[in-house]
This record gives sequence, structure tokens and C-alpha cells, in this order.
Amino acid sequence: MNLGLSRTSSVLSKNTSKKRTALIVGAGVAGPVLAYFLHRYGVQPVVVERASHLRKGGQVLDLRETAAREVVQRMGIANAIRENLSGEKGVHLVDRNGRIQATFRSDDFGGKGFISDIEILRDRLVNILYDHTHRNVEYVFDDHPLSINDQENHVQVTFASGKSRDFDLVIGADGIQSKTRRLVFSNKTQKHYLGLNIAYFTIPRSPSDNEWGRWYNAPRGRTIILRPDNQGTTRVLLLFRSSDHGYENLNIDEKKAALQKHYHDAGFEISRILRELENTSEFYFETAVQINMDRWSQGRVALVGDAAYGTTANGFGTSKAFIGAYLLAGEIGRSQNHTEAFKQYEDLMRPFVNKTQNMFPLALRITAPETKTGIFVRNALLTAVSKLLNTRLGAKMSQSKPTESGNVLPDYDSLLLR
Ligand SMILES: Cc1cc2nc3c(=O)[nH]c(=O)nc-3n(C[C@H](O)[C@H](O)[C@H](O)COP(=O)(O)OP(=O)(O)OC[C@H]3O[C@@H](n4cnc5c(N)ncnc54)[C@H](O)[C@@H]3O)c2cc1C
Repeated sequence: MNLGLSRTSSVLSKNTSKKRTALIVGAGVAGPVLAYFLHRYGVQPVVVERASHLRKGGQVLDLRETAAREVVQRMGIANAIRENLSGEKGVHLVDRNGRIQATFRSDDFGGKGFISDIEILRDRLVNILYDHTHRNVEYVFDDHPLSINDQENHVQVTFASGKSRDFDLVIGADGIQSKTRRLVFSNKTQKHYLGLNIAYFTIPRSPSDNEWGRWYNAPRGRTIILRPDNQGTTRVLLLFRSSDHGYENLNIDEKKAALQKHYHDAGFEISRILRELENTSEFYFETAVQINMDRWSQGRVALVGDAAYGTTANGFGTSKAFIGAYLLAGEIGRSQNHTEAFKQYEDLMRPFVNKTQNMFPLALRITAPETKTGIFVRNALLTAVSKLLNTRLGAKMSQSKPTESGNVLPDYDSLLLR
């Protein structure tokens, strides 16, 4: 990714007497990262989270972008993350009978392949971020903004609890279904349905599960991925193509019934998976969307992470959240002028967002080919690649680091309060 520049800055914010305040909506990934850096740059953050506690759940998230890993370093949480990795060795591509067709290790492609070398359960990551920030950041749970009124010299926010507070800035970090986006940017957002539905749930481990993920495709764009976690259970991902809308509006039982119908003849370990589906309490179902916006800010309100540029399940959500939050905090810290700060953030972040969003169609063809022929061709291709990786030359090529010349984060260190 090319974030353009690495520069030192004039420190405007340090010299002002009154601390600026920022409301951050959402305590997922982008929200706490933003709060961490804003606090370090002398801005007072308040994080409001709609759930009554940290919103847990979800599966493994990866940090495959070098710049995101750099943000983790600069936050001082790299060791905590390393200690909590899911421990997956890689992934086997398997056929209908579970026979291995191709193998990709987590350190293939410089640790940034199908399974990266930094994979962590979402719960663990969200906990680490909260633990690292809550002493210096006010967190408010079980509340959310009902109205956000930009009054030019401040923003007035009314909460569901009935409280009302003023802030210098409001940042929506409230995920792909962002309400902040709906309240402030409703006519400036394009939400594209990607023709893909995804269910995540957790099932008991069976003797066929080990430290390797297993990835299987059935015709009609049906993907099954089984992944070990470090909790003694197995995480299931069912991903299927369908241009029908409306799955997201079904209740849980109806969603489970739709999966039973869609998958019953898929093969591989589907009988076991569908049997356990009926018992699972941790179940998420999403219809994949992509958020496209010309601008991520308006007046004193801005968006970061999935709220601004989310694409469901394209593998870059967490990296974008870390990098976007870092850049936004840095630019707010650098300039008292929020219009200038938001513009700089957008200019720096836009190329990376465009790159990841443009990759989606190819990623989908690889992850969920639609027909038997498509699966055959994809498997043949990946088998050839995995065989090449097992040769000495292939392994060497895969481990060599890509040039990182454009991969430089701006340096905001001179803003840090020490
Ligand atoms: C429960 C859950 C499970 C997930 N599981 C996966 C997964 O398995 N694989 C994957 O790749 N990605 C998953 N994601 C998405 C992934 O976390 C994000 O793509 C990525 O980390 C970017 O994070 P974010 O902070 O922008 O958004 P998110 O991580 O989605 O965080 C948004 C936060 O905002 C809160 N929120 C929402 N609305 C409001 C509101 N109105 N007011 C206040 N707070 C609000 C949410 O409760 C959440 O805590 C999941 C997200 C969630 C919320």
C-alpha cells in the first residue's frame, strides 16, 4: 500500500489550553485504536458502545497488511497479540471426501497468504484493545446516539439514555451497519450487495479436526471452511452465493433453516456441521455488502473502519480499521482545523481502500467458484501453486518480502504527549 508520505509536523494541538473532545461511536477495533492515539495526542476521547459490554463473537481476524502491523507496534500491543494467536498452522484445500488437494502454510507468501501468520480470535483482539485503553479513555456501554447535530463550533449528541453532551468532534466507528453513517450521511452512501451470504458459528471439535483449517467448495458457490481455534472448539464458516436479498431479515431459526436447505447435499462433513448448527448458540449470519462513499466526513463528523469503507469478509477489514484509525487520529492531532485534518486522512487512506475493494471480485472467484468446472480449474491452479511452494525455489520466492518502499506510515511521534 502506498500511504504517500512520511513527514514530521508542526505541533498545533499541544499548545492549546483547552483539550479538544471527541465522541467515538463503537468499541470494536477502529474505535479503541482511534481512542488510544487521540489520547496520546492530547485529545480527550469518549467511546460509546451500544452493547452492554464489549461486543464479543466472531471468528479469527487477520492482520495481513504491513502498515497495520506497524500500528500494532506503535501501540505497544504486538506481544499481547502474539501471545493470543489462534495457532492455526495453515489451511488444506479438500475434496468432497475430505482428501487433501493442496496445502498452504501460514508462513507461505511472507506470512500473508490464505491464512496469515497473525490470526487472532476477534474476542481476544477486542479485549486486548480495551485493556490497553480503558484507563485513559472514558467508555460508556449500553448507550448510543439518537441524534447528532453539528452546530458549527461543536456537535450536540443526544443519546438513547436521554443524556445530551457536546463534543468538538464525532467519529463513527460503529461497523458496517453504522448508525452514525445513517444519521449524518444517509444520502451520501452507496451500499452494494455482493451476492454473498456468510454464516459463522462454533461447533465441538471432532477427531477429524486438527491444527489445520480445512476449506471445501461445492457447486452453486457453496464454501465450507472449518478452522481450529485455541479454545478447544472448531469455527465454521459457510459462505454461499445468492443474488436473493432478504436473508438478513429472517429470524435465527429461519436463517438456520435456509442453511439446511442450501447445504444439505454439499458433501464433505456437512451432516455433522448441520447437526451441530441446530445446537449452536453462537451464530452470526450476514449478507455481504460493500460501503462506498465519496467523502468520509461532513463538518465535524467523520467515519472510520467498516462504517466508512467496509466490505464484508474481504480479509482486510481489521487492517483497514487499524490503519484508518491511526491516520485519522494523527491528522486530528496534527491540525486544529478539522476540515483540513479530515481531508488529509481521506487523501492518505483512499488509495488503500480502493485497492482492497477492487480486489473483491477476484477474491470471490477464488473463494467461492460457482460451478463444478470452476471448482476443478481453481483446485488445479491452487494445487500447482502449493506444489511449487513445496519446492526449494518456490518456498524461497514465497518467503521473500515484497518491496515495502511505498508502505510508510506518516510519523506522528512529535505529537505524542510524554
Ligand atoms: C460481533 C462481530 C463479529 C464479527 N466477526 C467477524 C469475523 O468472524 N470475521 C471477520 O472478518 N470480521 C468480523 N467482524 C467484523 C470485523 O470486526 C471488522 O471488519 C473489522 O475488525 C473492522 O472493525 P470496526 O471497528 O470498523 O467494526 P466492528 O468490529 O464491527 O465494531 C463496531 C462496534 O460498534 C458497535 N456499534 C454498532 N452500532 C452502534 C451504535 N449505534 N452505537 C454504538 N456502538 C455501536 C458494535 O457493537 C461494535 O462493537 C465482526 C464484527 C462484529 C461486531
